[in-house]
Amino acid sequence: MTTDHGYPAVRMHIAGEWCQGGSGRTAPVVNPATEETIGEVPLATPADLDRALEAAEHGFRVWRATSIAKRSAILDRAADLIAERAAAIGRVMTLEQGKTLAESTGEARRTADTLRWHTEDARRAYGRIIPSAPGTVLTVRREPIGPVAAFVPWNFPVGGPNRKISSAISAGCSIVIKASEETPATAAALVECYADAGLPAGVLNLVFGEPAEVSARLIASPVTRMIAFTGSVPVGKLLAAETGKVMKPSLMELGGHAPVIVCADADPGQAARRAAQAKFFNAGQVCTSPSRFLVHESLVEDFTAEFVKAAESLVVGDGLTQGTTMGPLANERRLRSAERLTADAVSKGATVRTGGERLDRPGYFFAPTVLTDVPADADLMSEEPFGPLAPIVPFSDLDDALAIANSLPYGLAAYGFTRSAATAEKLSDGLEAGILSLNHCGGSVHEAPSGGVKDSGYGREGGPEALDAYLVTKRVSHLLT
Ligand code: NAD
Repeated sequence: MTTDHGYPAVRMHIAGEWCQGGSGRTAPVVNPATEETIGEVPLATPADLDRALEAAEHGFRVWRATSIAKRSAILDRAADLIAERAAAIGRVMTLEQGKTLAESTGEARRTADTLRWHTEDARRAYGRIIPSAPGTVLTVRREPIGPVAAFVPWNFPVGGPNRKISSAISAGCSIVIKASEETPATAAALVECYADAGLPAGVLNLVFGEPAEVSARLIASPVTRMIAFTGSVPVGKLLAAETGKVMKPSLMELGGHAPVIVCADADPGQAARRAAQAKFFNAGQVCTSPSRFLVHESLVEDFTAEFVKAAESLVVGDGLTQGTTMGPLANERRLRSAERLTADAVSKGATVRTGGERLDRPGYFFAPTVLTDVPADADLMSEEPFGPLAPIVPFSDLDDALAIANSLPYGLAAYGFTRSAATAEKLSDGLEAGILSLNHCGGSVHEAPSGGVKDSGYGREGGPEALDAYLVTKRVSHLLT
């Protein structure tokens, strides 16, 4: 069933059934390109959450006892369905999140590949046999940790939930996931692929609700064995504290404020084009988005000119419209934040080189913005912008640039541009970040781990490390009698 906007009716998925919440309470879903309400998302009651937990407990027992060959066949089928439905999933994503169709369908396609990668990797989650005393067999096994509670935001409406779901389920766990109430239909379309592929009831449960109520109940439940969260640093710290009280492990993928250091020997035009492409991807609403541009003083004017050119060449509009290269911000909070950070920087002496304001039309559109002369005490230099804002700051000494880059409590992504192997090594060694890209600002890949240091969180998603959080290591020593 769809509405006039072509937006599907949203349901939760509990114990293999699609359902409304027990109270009938809903929240509106808004298209950020038009500010129109396009649908309603059901909100779970405590009883709905308890049913989801009970289902996950049962689902875990069933899934754990399912052979790895059968699990893989179901998950391969789910990946095929995601790929087949990528265009439809992408359209719903653009309606509720705003990103361009090219970005949303690309995200859906990558999601299918990520699932395949984790499924294949789980087949090789080997333990080991350790040489021991005669008559003793000493082994290490890796077992699924149990039912997982996961919480994901709105910026990657299919890729975000799938990172948690695909790792947890490939590892043999069950999961209750609360996806964002702002992008619920995309999450439901993803879960539908798993359900249609034959995943047993209860292995994957999708809920929506009042975030703090949902997380408090799911974290405290004795059914839940592990917590996985992606979102802001303040919410991550809150959930990590709740998780600590009940002594459960957690995976925290939090925010960042990625520095880009453009060294004196770099090609300023190439660096600006590559950095701008990453900066404005998803309208800057990416935790690894480059967001502080520290450019050697000898290059700063050339770099800025090319960056401004790239920003001004973007076509900002409804993501559904062909030719759009940057959509709106996903919600009004992001728009207000972009306005506030720009006004604060300007009031402290920054110069707007392009953009700097909301577009004069309905929708949460903010112009791709480049700022120079941004003082260190501008909020934009310490607060994650999560929007299309690019502050450019000159430096003369690389050690000073490294000190600025490392001065924040964040440590997620960092970028560097240089043609010197020695300088590249200095950046690799010196930047405090979990993800470093040199001479490009490429995004995450499923083959390699992503995650932060410092306040940006702990644990890794992607790569063989992705399964670690969902597996426990058990030592078994067997004395042969
Ligand atoms: P927010 O901190 O209010 O929420 C972030 C996410 O956490 C949302 O999906 C929200 O539903 C969820 N959330 C909030 N309180 C929760 C709780 N008590 N329990 C469980 N989940 C809870 O921020 P926002 O306005 O949605 O986004 C703005 C900020 O969030 C950004 O500035 C950015 O720092 C951060 N963010 C980070 C990522 C990321 O990929 N790391 C993604 C989206 C947002």
